[in-house]
Amino acid sequence: MSGSPTVRFAPSPTGWLHVGNARAALFNFLFALKNGGRFMLRMDDTDDARSTPEFAAAIEEDLAWLGLGHDLFARQSERLGFYEAAAEKLKADGRLYPAYESAAELDRRRKRQLARGLPPVYDRAALNLTPEDRAALEAEGRKPHWRFKLDHVHTAFEDMIQGHVEVDGASLSDPVLIREDGRFLYTLPSIVDDIEFAITHVIRGADHITNTGVQIQIIRALGAKPPVFAHYSLLNGPDGKPLSKRNDAERFSLRALREAGYEPMALNALLARLGTPDPMEPCLSLDELAAGFDIARLGRSDIRFDPADLARANTACLHLLPYEAAKPRLASLGADLGPVFWEAVKPNLVLFRDAAEWARVVEGPVEPVIEEADFAAAAAAALPPEPWGLDTWGLWTDAVKQATGRKGKALFMPLRLALTGLTHGPELKNLLPLIGRDRTKARLTGLTD
Ligand code: GLU
Repeated sequence: MSGSPTVRFAPSPTGWLHVGNARAALFNFLFALKNGGRFMLRMDDTDDARSTPEFAAAIEEDLAWLGLGHDLFARQSERLGFYEAAAEKLKADGRLYPAYESAAELDRRRKRQLARGLPPVYDRAALNLTPEDRAALEAEGRKPHWRFKLDHVHTAFEDMIQGHVEVDGASLSDPVLIREDGRFLYTLPSIVDDIEFAITHVIRGADHITNTGVQIQIIRALGAKPPVFAHYSLLNGPDGKPLSKRNDAERFSLRALREAGYEPMALNALLARLGTPDPMEPCLSLDELAAGFDIARLGRSDIRFDPADLARANTACLHLLPYEAAKPRLASLGADLGPVFWEAVKPNLVLFRDAAEWARVVEGPVEPVIEEADFAAAAAAALPPEPWGLDTWGLWTDAVKQATGRKGKALFMPLRLALTGLTHGPELKNLLPLIGRDRTKARLTGLTD
């Protein structure tokens, strides 16, 4: 790549970020990190009816949780002067024109076109208005919205994911850039900022492909050079339906996943590979993730977010977590029973906080499940003397086998039930020395500790 790239994540602060938004942020972040570039966070908050400072603050918090720090920051609501200047230039060049149709009028016209089998494209009637017509409309109290006059040509671009794309300007309505209340819609501010901040690569969802054809025309009309585009396919929910800020806010918002106890790096690792042919690789740092990240590996078909994949990714990430990193977190759960404990329990964790449950199994209280008192008594009688270590379990179970003639599940399951009260759990070889002889003995006699 020539020169270092600048990319941006540009959410509208109109809701909580969900996993699909996180993917947009992550792709841009990893692309910048891998290529020695800069990552910008831009709040697309020109819609002041729907944007709130609370959502904006939440976006920053959620990105910080994921570890996606930014090098550049802008808030569009503070930059309106730049957009106004760009609009003035387009007006002066005859590329931005006022139109006065109401939403109802436009709707009627679209229906008529569809009924006649025509594409529902804006007919540019407003271009024929004379200054007198406009004055008359304004005297009626009508306010114009402003449309960009598209060139009716094919606009082509080479997309890093989609390949060669062409958008036919003649098949599109002239886009409205400014609403009749004077507010800018997303398009012009986004373009002006991409130019101002010298954005080199626009990496975003495939729902923006058609917009890109329009945007390239506007970028050129403003005398700038289009960036490189990469449109990745969107992440759908487990039901295959698009994720939306509204519908999935509760289940798949970053806040909900954070509160549920998922590791941010598990989510990053999962999202970085979903939609590529490559398997998820758990890792502990964004640097590692960036090293293996290649935007061209992303495919074109739609993909699904499956919470079961996240649970698996979480387990895999916890598996990599060294004791030193886990220690303070274990301590805050009251579950820091040392490195042997951590190594023993981590393969059994879906969430970090499950470690507290295994600490309870070690330290008690456990309600032992004793199905055969004779067998439990024989096992208690065979307990080796302390000190206990990692070989104690083998020595003990060999002795119990000799004494009772049992083997396999018939030998191990009653011991597990007596010692932990549960049918599953970490390897008892590792837990036994932590439980210790006194507690083991008491549990084998059915005493709750
Ligand atoms: N605010 C826009 C959105 O959320 C940004 C799209 C873009 O990346 O250009 O859809």
